[in-house]
Amino acid sequence: MFLDSLILFLSSLGMPDASSTRHRTSGSTARDDYLEQILNLIEEKGYARPIDISKRLQISQASVTNMLQKLDAEGLVTHVKYRGTTLTEEGMRIARAITDRHETLTRFLELFDIDKDTIYRDVEGMEHHISRATLEAIRSLTNHLQKNPKTLREIKDSE
Ligand code: ZN
Repeated sequence: MFLDSLILFLSSLGMPDASSTRHRTSGSTARDDYLEQILNLIEEKGYARPIDISKRLQISQASVTNMLQKLDAEGLVTHVKYRGTTLTEEGMRIARAITDRHETLTRFLELFDIDKDTIYRDVEGMEHHISRATLEAIRSLTNHLQKNPKTLREIKDSE
């Protein structure tokens, strides 16, 4: 019994990416992507319809329906008959934080004249892995560089 736990513990040390961690990460990654797109759709159209979510995320409508049920059970979205999905107050709070993170990272990369498609792809990857502390550091740096174009120029020229 003890030996089993010890072996499990030791093997977990060598595998920081143990499958349970990976599943948890991809689960919240998907959840974040949904909340982000639902907020985008609400801002554009008032409601997020499953078909639109499915198109934006390139995921089957059956998977979208499953995730919406999960988010509903977690109290993050509600369904309004004949209209579509909308965010609860808590869902809105989380979605806004996700969107804010996306915008901060985009703003940072835009300072360096990287093309739009690359920025979008990179931000969609980075945003799921960044800690709050690193995000705040990037936010401060971005704000500073936006206010101080001379410093930005110096950084670019020193490349
Ligand atoms: Zn994003």
